[in-house]
Amino acid sequence: EIKKSGKNAVQFFTPSMNEAAQDRLRLESRLRTAIAGGDLTLHYQPQVDVLTGNLVGLEALARWTDQELGTVPPDQFIPVAEDTGLIVALGVWALDEACRQAAEWEVKVPIAVNVSPAQLIREEFPDVVRDTLARYGLPPRLLKLELTERLTIRDPVLAARQLGRLRDLGVRLSLDDFGAGQSVIASLMRLPLHELKLDRMLLANITEDPSSWGMMEALLSLAQSLDLPVVVEGVETSAQLNAMRAMGCGTVQGYLTGRPQHPASVFSLLSAGSPDEPNPS
Ligand code: C2E
Ligand code: MG
Ligand code: MG
Ligand code: MG
Repeated sequence: EIKKSGKNAVQFFTPSMNEAAQDRLRLESRLRTAIAGGDLTLHYQPQVDVLTGNLVGLEALARWTDQELGTVPPDQFIPVAEDTGLIVALGVWALDEACRQAAEWEVKVPIAVNVSPAQLIREEFPDVVRDTLARYGLPPRLLKLELTERLTIRDPVLAARQLGRLRDLGVRLSLDDFGAGQSVIASLMRLPLHELKLDRMLLANITEDPSSWGMMEALLSLAQSLDLPVVVEGVETSAQLNAMRAMGCGTVQGYLTGRPQHPASVFSLLSAGSPDEPNPS
């Protein structure tokens, strides 16, 4: 690759560009090893009812600590996995691991698993989901798949067909990160969705900026008129939580109501029951 420097001279790879490329190659190779060796883990973040504080769901989030690289955040390794195709193997693993743990915990609330466009686009994906559920005897309604809009924009026909097959299996379908990128309102009507997740960007200035407040209210009301339950992501402050209550948002997921947690803590969370539940069964 050729890069023009400020003084109109043409340079080839600068040492730092070269280094960045090498870091990425190393990350890719370590990630490949980690996926093959089962070195990733899932953490789970609570989704809670905004009025009662009851646990209504858990989102599975991939975590990776490498012996050489240390802890690598998903925002770094997921894009690499997507660019290299490793996301397909990672996704198969995440789906399997989440269903295994959900069945072991005998969860009463759905476990949400993130699905990349590269997975969804594969003809066999719905069969993989069906087989994974069967392997652990997990009822389909206890699995929620979180999809992003990228595929649904690129290939709406394929997306609708795959989502239709998944819906017919009885799993729940959630549209993730709505309001973050190029969000298409028409997707909400066209796709067989059970839930809409509003991106945390929409919350950022909600208590200071009237237009952010207005935008959130409008989106919540749109979702309500489409009969689409909403999860608002990224609630960090009680002011934001109060705003969500005031607007009648149903479910929140954020650091305030619970960070992503190690499976061992999730197990005790589930066996303790929800804080506001007087008689956990
Ligand atoms: P996401 O699916 O939108 O997941 C929510 C992200 O927001 C998580 O980041 C979570 O830790 C973070 N978050 C939750 N509450 C708060 C909050 O109050 N404040 C802030 N600042 N952040 C909050 P995480 O775990 O780093 O994951 C980042 C992204 O990586 C995920 O975004 C998802 O797109 C992707 N990802 C993670 N695991 C998987 C996976 O197994 N498969 C696929 N395809 N993607 C995954
Ligand atoms: Mg998600
Ligand atoms: Mg999200
Ligand atoms: Mg996100």
